[in-house]
Amino acid sequence: MAYKFDCINVVPGCEGTLRGETRDEVLRAAAEHASHAHLPDEVGEKVKASIVKE
Ligand SMILES: [Zn+2]
Repeated sequence: MAYKFDCINVVPGCEGTLRGETRDEVLRAAAEHASHAHLPDEVGEKVKASIVKE
């Protein structure tokens, strides 16, 4: 079972989608993405709450 996170859930207009085999992998990918595209502290908690199984 893989996990994914659609960034638009927390950042309106962002088309980023992060994927991983575990929630931790997705979280790391999302943090990396956010560090480039967003303010990590701002979205970190929202990201954790928005990672779902696909
Ligand atoms: Zn994004």
